[in-house]
Amino acid sequence: MTIASIQHFIAGQHAAGVSTRTQPVYNPATGAVTANVSLASSDDVNVAVAAAQKAFPAWADTSPLRRARVMFKFLELLNKHKDDLARMITAEHGKVFTDAQGEVTRGIEIVEFATGIPQLLKGDYTEQVSTGIDNWTMRQPLGVVAGITPFNFPVMVPMWMFPVAIATGNTFVLKPSPIDPTPALFMADLLKQAGLPDGVFNVVQGDKEAVDALLVHPDVKAISFVGSTPIANYIYETGAHHGKRVQALGGAKNHMVVMPDADIDQAVDALIGAAYGSAGERCMAISVAVLVGDVGDRIMPKLIERTKTLKVLNGTNLAAEMGPIVTDIAHKRITGYIEQGAKEGAQLLVDGRVFDGKQAGEGCGNGFWMGGTLFDHVTPEMRIYKEEIFGPVLSCVRVADFAQAVTLINAHEFGNGVSCFTRDGGVAREFARRIQVGMVGINVPIPVPMAWHGFGGWKKSLFGDMHAYGEEGVRFYTKQKSVMQRWPDSIGKGAEFAMPTSK
Ligand code: NAD
Repeated sequence: MTIASIQHFIAGQHAAGVSTRTQPVYNPATGAVTANVSLASSDDVNVAVAAAQKAFPAWADTSPLRRARVMFKFLELLNKHKDDLARMITAEHGKVFTDAQGEVTRGIEIVEFATGIPQLLKGDYTEQVSTGIDNWTMRQPLGVVAGITPFNFPVMVPMWMFPVAIATGNTFVLKPSPIDPTPALFMADLLKQAGLPDGVFNVVQGDKEAVDALLVHPDVKAISFVGSTPIANYIYETGAHHGKRVQALGGAKNHMVVMPDADIDQAVDALIGAAYGSAGERCMAISVAVLVGDVGDRIMPKLIERTKTLKVLNGTNLAAEMGPIVTDIAHKRITGYIEQGAKEGAQLLVDGRVFDGKQAGEGCGNGFWMGGTLFDHVTPEMRIYKEEIFGPVLSCVRVADFAQAVTLINAHEFGNGVSCFTRDGGVAREFARRIQVGMVGINVPIPVPMAWHGFGGWKKSLFGDMHAYGEEGVRFYTKQKSVMQRWPDSIGKGAEFAMPTSK
């Protein structure tokens, strides 16, 4: 059997590139290699950036309404091919099909937002800032901008970036994760079908070599990154050093507080879905349950039961609640953390390592499988509390009261998402105000903001000033220009040497 090659998309064409380096792409459910993806060299990146640079002047000059019309057409095509994209995600990432459909929908919402770009690009205008002088602001595109994205949302995270970047008049180079590279190429084809001019959207497959080439390229004006914290930090520092605008979203350790007045069954549903959905490989997954007062004793039997009975199946099975882990390397990292947690003295109540792929469906014996893991009596000094595990492992920490819960969470180095389950409006309000985290849910376990609100964490979960998408995204991908204008009949005689003030 010949294995397919997954290539780049440059200047409107699928392109092999000059680099001969490749990496295998797996189906995590079966462990089989399904393709080889090209890994771009810096020369390949230079070709993609040159194509984007060439396309920029005409695209920047295209009226926002015409750019929006391309977005409308793209939206129509995405809706038509929603399930095709979801199937591609399940095949390379492993997440269950219904979850993949949800991912595609959340990406589509950003395209819906981007169709409103003529309204979003309107500037401010002040008539008569001084006699006979008007002043206005406008927002103009930056040029070539790049997106570097993680494996865990191969459709949604690129769509946090490119619809807004393109609609605002930039041209784009996407460097997706080599773990699940296919959906990016499919989206490139759809954009072309939607009438996007060649070179406005390009895909370079690759790894660190491609990323480094983008980071130092003088024609790349801005970098949007989503991935783990050490790499986010590196991207932010290197990109800024090379004069680029950078937004770099990093890792997370998201807590969910359960107050004694919360509905315990609702809290259990929320914890199970948010901890084990997508095998915990979501930057907004709940990985720590903060159980206040007597909640720990009341909730634990239910959590144990539900964790043990999770339906861990091939993601193509519509009954599946959780699919496989993305790679063998990730599987090893997660099992290492489980071992570490037990060694550190946390109480291992459900051990996902005992789950065997053979139980997940036909042909799954060699896939990257594990079940859900549940730890109780985790403490803040333990590595399983401090570090991002990024797998289906829920750590429960017990605290005496609300104040302790807030102090615990605020001391953590990550600050992406957080949630509080309570029926008390005063507690909810206080929580939202005091918590040092970028995205807060009140009785909402995974509070991913909608397309027009913008996404971003605090502390080591985001390096940079602006959140992804929404109006923050529009600001990130544009620069403001202020124009002051008067006409000859309002110009007085003689040179002015004093600082002009309003007259
Ligand atoms: P990752 O950091 O390994 O990779 C992200 C991107 O960086 C990929 O495109 C990868 O090819 C590239 N990359 C990897 N190593 C690099 C290096 N040394 N130099 C330059 N580039 C490099 O992340 P991942 O494993 O693909 O994704 C999971 C991580 O992403 C988790 O930490 C998760 O929390 C985070 N994440 C964060 C958000 C958020 O919004 N904050 C969203 C999704 C995922």
